[in-house]
Amino acid sequence: MKDWIRPEIKALTAYHVPDAAGYIKLDAMENPYHWPDDLVTQWLEVLRDANLNRYPDPSANKLKLKIQTCLNLPSESEIILGNGSDELIQLILMAVSGKDRVVMSVEPSFVMYKMIASFLDMPYVGVPLNERFELDLDLMLASIKQHQPAVIFIAYPNNPTGNLFSEQVLDEILETTDAIVVIDEAYFAFADKSYANKLKDYANLIVMRTVSKMGLAGLRLGYMAGNKSLLQEMDKVRLPYNINILTQVSTEFALQNKHILDEQTEQIKRDRSELFNALNRIDGLDVFPSDANFILIRLLQHDADAVFAALKDQNILIKNLSHADVSLKNCLRVTVGKASENEQFLLAFKSAIA
Ligand SMILES: *Cc1c(COP(=O)(O)O)cnc(C)c1O
Repeated sequence: MKDWIRPEIKALTAYHVPDAAGYIKLDAMENPYHWPDDLVTQWLEVLRDANLNRYPDPSANKLKLKIQTCLNLPSESEIILGNGSDELIQLILMAVSGKDRVVMSVEPSFVMYKMIASFLDMPYVGVPLNERFELDLDLMLASIKQHQPAVIFIAYPNNPTGNLFSEQVLDEILETTDAIVVIDEAYFAFADKSYANKLKDYANLIVMRTVSKMGLAGLRLGYMAGNKSLLQEMDKVRLPYNINILTQVSTEFALQNKHILDEQTEQIKRDRSELFNALNRIDGLDVFPSDANFILIRLLQHDADAVFAALKDQNILIKNLSHADVSLKNCLRVTVGKASENEQFLLAFKSAIA
C-alpha cells in the first residue's frame, strides 16, 4: 500500500495519557470527589428514563438553556456544545481552516491548540510568555501585526502555569485584532474572573469552557458562547448528535444540583491555598500562584525527572513538564486533590528532595 498518511501527521507524537491504575492521581486536573450516595441514587433514576433507542436532541436545547442560566452566560449569546472543549477547538478551526490561516496562542499553554492546528494543516504561531508567565503586550501586538492570525486562543487561567493574564492586556488585544479571540475558561470555577460579561462588547470574542475540571470530566462536555451570526456559521461544522443522551441528561441533573459542585470547588480552593503555602515553605522551589485547580512548581536545586520518578515509585502521579517547553525546564505540575492526597504528595515530595 502507498503511504497515504500526511507527513505532518507522521511527524506528530500521539497525545500520551499514562495508565493511572493504582496511583494517587494528581496529574489531570480532575475534581477528586464524586457525589453523595443519595444524589447518585437520584441520578440513576433520571438515567432510567433516557431513551437509548432514540437519537438524542441534536441541538440539546434544554441543556443549552440550563447552561446559559446556571453558568451566567448572556442570554443574547449563541451557545454551541462540544464533546469536551477539545472538540470545540477542532470545530472552530475547521470552520476557518486554510493553508494561510494562522492560529496563534501563547507558549507555554494548552497543547491542543497547536496539535489541532497541525491536524488541519494550519500554520501555528506560539508567542512566548515572559519569565513570570505573563503576557508580553508589545510582543503580542507585534506578532499579531506580523502574522495576521485568524484565531487567537488564550487560556484564562492558563494551563500549565495557573495564572490569569492581565485583563488590561487582554482587552487591548481584543480592541486591536480582527482575529477571532477564544478565551478558554476551562478553569473558570476556580477563578474569580470571566470574560462572559464582555461578550456583548466584542463581536470577535468567544468564551469557551468545559464541565471537565469542575467535576464532570467523565461526561465530555464543553460549551462556548459568542456572537450569534459567528456561532451559527460554526455550528454548521458540528456533527449531528455530538452530545450523547447520557451526557445531556447527566449534565442537566448535575447543574440542577450545582450547589454540590460549588461546595467541592470551594473545598478545592481552600486546599489549593494550603498546598501552596506548604510548598512555599520548602526551600529550593519556585511555586507559581494559581487561579486554577493545580500548581506549577519549578525545582531550583533538583532534577524534575528524578523527583517525578521518585513520586511515581511512591504511587503518586503528577505531571512532568520539564521537557514540554524550554520555559518549563525543571517544572512539575500537581493537581489539587483531596486533603489526604495532598498530604501524601507533600510527604513523598519532601522525601524525594531531601
Ligand atoms: C483541560 C482543558 C481543556 C479541555 O477540556 P475538555 O472539555 O475536557 O476537552 C481545554 N482547555 C484547557 C486550557 C484545559 O486545560
